[in-house]
Amino acid sequence: MTPPFRIGNGYDIHRLVPERALILGGVHIPHTLGLLGHSDADVLTHAVMDALLGALGLGDIGHYFPPDDPQWTGADSVMLLTQVRRWVAEHGWQVANVDTVVVAERPKLKPHIPAMQARLATALGVTPAQVGVKATTNERLGSVGREEGIAAHAVALLVPTRS
Ligand code: MG
Repeated sequence: MTPPFRIGNGYDIHRLVPERALILGGVHIPHTLGLLGHSDADVLTHAVMDALLGALGLGDIGHYFPPDDPQWTGADSVMLLTQVRRWVAEHGWQVANVDTVVVAERPKLKPHIPAMQARLATALGVTPAQVGVKATTNERLGSVGREEGIAAHAVALLVPTRS
């Protein structure tokens, strides 16, 4: 018997560079550096998308939104997340909750967390209380600690759509 839930895990990292906007969870965060990527490089939203795709057993984000496809140049990752949410619904599932961790040495993310939760929750069709966004530093260790990039982890739990 198939259990009445599905869990998925997602991870992403993007490089920090000058002259790019820093977008996390669909929220523009003022900073001297931004994330480099083909889309808007929203590492948090990408980790959430991968967690949802993982829960669906559909593979990874790169398969559906390949970085070498010009269609996704500068793409708003929250729009891509909305597409993934549509697939969740089409497969008969809904989001029970999502929990995430953003690993960034700087800037301080705490003031922006409610906005990130709200933006992701809207895209997922859930309440902000169903979207955990936590922030931590890497204690100055490794590439993230040297502020060469920002990483994000996400888990998502899906339950069947009430019919
Ligand atoms: Mg990515």
